[in-house]
Amino acid sequence: MANRAGIALGSNLGNRLTHLQVARDMLRKLVPENTVYMQAPVYQSEPLNCPPDSPDFFNTVIELDFIGSPYELLEHTQGIEFHFGRGIVHQVNAPRVIDLDILYFGEEVIKDTILNIPHPEMTSRRFVLQPLADIRPQLILPGDKATISEHLYHIDSDEPPLSLVQSDW
Ligand code: ADP
Ligand code: MG
Repeated sequence: MANRAGIALGSNLGNRLTHLQVARDMLRKLVPENTVYMQAPVYQSEPLNCPPDSPDFFNTVIELDFIGSPYELLEHTQGIEFHFGRGIVHQVNAPRVIDLDILYFGEEVIKDTILNIPHPEMTSRRFVLQPLADIRPQLILPGDKATISEHLYHIDSDEPPLSLVQSDW
């Protein structure tokens, strides 16, 4: 059975836009071409809780129809991160060529050591909520009451506003 899966893409090292595009293309290859696919604009955000002098992030969110389990999707996203040369061991929040986080997966709620869905920090991060609100403003996460646009409106975060990099990418 297919589930709507939201994935956050982030890059703050090297050619950030190209990294997002290559990762996006690899993710799209996982699903049949005739299924509904959505992608948010790409935004630029200042690094949050990162080592000093970390470059700005490019962030976006995509949603696709995934056939398989959330753990299978995680294997794919981790395989793509690995393809980009992201090693297993790295400093916390060190600059990364690509970071792929599964935000939600249909109505699934998972809390275990390798997978947390919906992503626990997503409703407090502007760099997730803003792009997601562009494509899924009325989405209500499983176990939640507020929509994504309501979370964005009420966000309690000291992150500065994001700047738009590109709507089409
Ligand atoms: P972060 O995204 O917080 O900067 P990492 O990308 O290094 O950190 O993620 C570390 C671990 O987070 C991964 O090994 C993965 O098993 C776990 N994880 C838990 N929930 C999720 C999720 N929803 N999406 C992606 N990874 C997740
Ligand atoms: Mg991650």
